[in-house]
Amino acid sequence: LDVRPDLEAQVRADDRGHVFHSWSAQALIDPLPVAGGEGATFWDYAGTAYLDFSSQLVNLNLGHQHPDLVAAIQQQAGRLATIQPSMANDVRGELARRISEVAGDGFSKVFFTNGGADANENAVRMARLVTGKRKVLSMYRSYHGNTSTAITLTGDPRRWPNEPADGSVAHFFGPYAYRSPFHSSSPEEETDRALEHLEQTIILEGASTIGAIILETVVGTNGVLVPPPGYLPGVRALCDKYGIVYIADEVMVGFGRIGEWFAFQAFDATPDLITFAKGVNSGYVPLGGVVISDRIAAHFDTVSFPGGLTYSGHPLACAAGVATFEVFERDGILERVRDLGARVVEPRLRAIAERHPSVGEVRGRGLFWAIELVRDRETREPLVPFNAAGADAAPVAAVAAACKEAGLWPFTHFNRIHVAPPLVISEEDLVRGLDIIDAALDAADAAL
Ligand code: PLP
Repeated sequence: LDVRPDLEAQVRADDRGHVFHSWSAQALIDPLPVAGGEGATFWDYAGTAYLDFSSQLVNLNLGHQHPDLVAAIQQQAGRLATIQPSMANDVRGELARRISEVAGDGFSKVFFTNGGADANENAVRMARLVTGKRKVLSMYRSYHGNTSTAITLTGDPRRWPNEPADGSVAHFFGPYAYRSPFHSSSPEEETDRALEHLEQTIILEGASTIGAIILETVVGTNGVLVPPPGYLPGVRALCDKYGIVYIADEVMVGFGRIGEWFAFQAFDATPDLITFAKGVNSGYVPLGGVVISDRIAAHFDTVSFPGGLTYSGHPLACAAGVATFEVFERDGILERVRDLGARVVEPRLRAIAERHPSVGEVRGRGLFWAIELVRDRETREPLVPFNAAGADAAPVAAVAAACKEAGLWPFTHFNRIHVAPPLVISEEDLVRGLDIIDAALDAADAAL
């Protein structure tokens, strides 16, 4: 490991003195100084290594310092480090072509952005321009990003201190069988009732006012909520019936997280616009975008699209994206994710659920899973309250601390622990990480 304990104090001092961090009360945080990383592991300046079971912010699909991505960025920097978006560029064009190809029939254009939030902003803008209708429906229990419309679309507490940024948004309930808002008792009933609720929302909000429905294909941070069979085809049908654009937010689940290029491909429904970021190049250089269906793209053939970004399709980011495609294809990443998810993660998590009374449900797909912690399996009362902080969050914080103590960096959110390691993690590390979580859950059982 590239360990330099002598540097740690300066890194910490510069950070504490001058870096203003996201989503935080600045005096109450203590960011870990990170010295380096490789594959599924990163380490601090003292040489303590952590297995990265959150892929940073679920973006690091190909792991830390993947040699192919690093080389692609280095080579592109030596050739042409930047060029503005109104010019044609080889890697930008190649990446747009490759993304369109894997998106499937009916998609041939890509608008590049700097990340996920602005991808959603621009997708909503396109939908509004094409339909002439401003209102957008989005789900409670969702995250769509931190710019004005994207944060308003968000269906979690990060929206509250930021509203109203965009008044023309309304929220609805998506399917969530374990805590069904519809009191359903089977996945089929959940689908039917969730679709009935969505249709009622459309009618009551006014179909003539709604330009788009946006949803995460598999809800990410808010719970790894995999849609029940028939739900997304039902959303597609409602969008067709009422002249609404269907936007699939694939920022977290696109590019292999559940073993598909795009997650919608596992659920028999094709959206009109697909937003992506994170896994497209593992976040080595900021990049996001919108994949545009031919029908919507055609609207802008003769009408100018009123939007742009200085770094749209940045060559360094796109070179890392092209390299990502090469690695995915050469190393069979999608097949690997499906195999490891079904053969290694699922059975182990099911065994963990049996062993620990604090585990209410495990759910997921590919290398994307949630362990939902409860006080009581019968009542399903969450181990910590919704949006818990401070002392209220202590039982989950204790699990996270036990994971870190044992060398694993976990992803926790409210009463859940998510399993989202890099897609290149070795089977041995995957098993080791799941064993660490298994042992750490004793801290949750102890809180019952
Ligand atoms: N959409 C989803 C589903 C996300 O998970 C995120 C980020 O976590 C975003 C949008 C926002 O992406 P970014 O942080 O790149 O703006």
